[in-house]
Amino acid sequence: MLAQHDMDCGGSDGACASIMLVPSPRSDEHEDNCACAGEYLRARARDNEDDCACATENQAIAWQLAPQTIFQPLTTDKVLLANPAVDGSLMVLDRQAAALFAALTAPPPESNCAPASRLVNDCAPPFPAEQVRGLTRQGQRMGLLVQAESNCACAATDPTCGLPRAVPVALTAWLHLTDRCNLRCDYCYLPHVREDMSPGTGRAAIDATFRSAIANGFEQVKLKYAGGEPLLRFPLIMELHQYAQKQAEEHGLGLEGVVLSNGTLLTGSMASTLCALGLRLMISLDGLGAYHDAHRRYAGGRGSFADVAEAVDLALAHGLTPSISVTVSSRTAEGLADVMAWILARELPFSLNFYRENDLSASHEDMRLDEQKIIAGMLAAFKVIEENLPRRPFLGGIIDRADLSIGHTHTCGVGQNYLVFDQNGQVAKCQMLIRKPVTDAHAADALALVRADRLGVQNVSVDEKEGCRDCPWKYWCAGGCPLATYRATGRYDVKSPNCNIYRALFPAALRLEGLRLLKYQDDPEVVEKIVI
Ligand code: SF4
Ligand code: SF4
Repeated sequence: MLAQHDMDCGGSDGACASIMLVPSPRSDEHEDNCACAGEYLRARARDNEDDCACATENQAIAWQLAPQTIFQPLTTDKVLLANPAVDGSLMVLDRQAAALFAALTAPPPESNCAPASRLVNDCAPPFPAEQVRGLTRQGQRMGLLVQAESNCACAATDPTCGLPRAVPVALTAWLHLTDRCNLRCDYCYLPHVREDMSPGTGRAAIDATFRSAIANGFEQVKLKYAGGEPLLRFPLIMELHQYAQKQAEEHGLGLEGVVLSNGTLLTGSMASTLCALGLRLMISLDGLGAYHDAHRRYAGGRGSFADVAEAVDLALAHGLTPSISVTVSSRTAEGLADVMAWILARELPFSLNFYRENDLSASHEDMRLDEQKIIAGMLAAFKVIEENLPRRPFLGGIIDRADLSIGHTHTCGVGQNYLVFDQNGQVAKCQMLIRKPVTDAHAADALALVRADRLGVQNVSVDEKEGCRDCPWKYWCAGGCPLATYRATGRYDVKSPNCNIYRALFPAALRLEGLRLLKYQDDPEVVEKIVI
């Protein structure tokens, strides 16, 4: 719980200002090659205009910290509060604000004072009424404070009752433009058969995606042009995205597109075209030099690092900022700090993703996640981030399939808002199960069939996962990749095999975000500074 801090803040009569720092609304632009949280959670806060949001002016209301709220000391005089259950619920408090928060949520003293009014009049400590009201309003708005006794119908069963909640607004589709690739990465799950998607199949897949988006009430479609190596089919990317743009316009839906590439085939002209089409680019880079090459080599065995590094700089030179996807395994964990320094020097968005074993990669035993190696490598990378804190938000991609930027109950969009089209127009639930389709692009509503499937991968809510239900991090972690859990345990309804790694890293990641807010507290594009 919050500590009651010393009140000597240099002001007088308890009237010194309270300062709260919260992230400015700005999307995290990282990409990864899953349907993971970024897509599932492209979300909006629920309007908070119900009967529960009524009481900030009423000083007789008793408040308490919202369930799930995490409190963490940040520096000697700053604390961080966050509620994983609520979208965008994170703030850094100075000593005055923390003391006020502590008093506001403390159990009632033995006095006749009403819960909040005891803070502002004769009852100690003497906080100005203005500050109490301001902090109460902010705390409630951010999902950190709830009424101790709520009249809301949902209060008994829903810890987020009355608080802003995220809902998915985008339907994401993976378009497998080809199974071919010029690399042979050790963790790849594809057989690399020589098969391509035809333009007709691509258009059918896009039509199917828009049909399902409309039928299921989505506001936006996100297309992932993937493979194999999608740059082998660059003309098809252009053709399909222009077709998708027309469909989006016709149906009044938003459209986003990203190319998931190994980077080695990128040319300046491609980069300029991607920019012109409004497409993003994700490039896989797993380390510097030999660390990258230890995972990602050409079919002939030569390492690909030099070409990938060149591609990143080429993209930047043509005005395209690629997002870097780093796959972390025990084989490369030691090199994480160096690649993080390289990424941050170029101010690139990034995601750090844990290696997931599959049938084709299982023989590479040295890639399996050794907890100590992965934690040490990740913490070394975090140290580099701390020394070079970027303006850009990073909580969405800093720890594997967790997304600490937004509360969510499901790890990814599988079975909810995700379609994977293979080169023949068959539809699977996850790209790693691309050879196990559940329907095809001609279905009237492919998403409805994906959602109804009970045989393949099951994306269980974290509230139903054994070992996760009481975890304070559950609405950021959501229990990890369902496929990885199933492979390790034979069940979908239990916590991730990477749980110990996650739990070791979450507090450190949260601390980095707090430090980022402190560093950029005077930059309104990065931080909203609330002075009360
Ligand atoms: S996998 Fe572990 S860290 Fe994640 S929600 Fe479950 S118990 Fe919490
Ligand atoms: S099931 Fe696992 S691999 Fe598939 S999209 Fe979800 S998190 Fe990614």
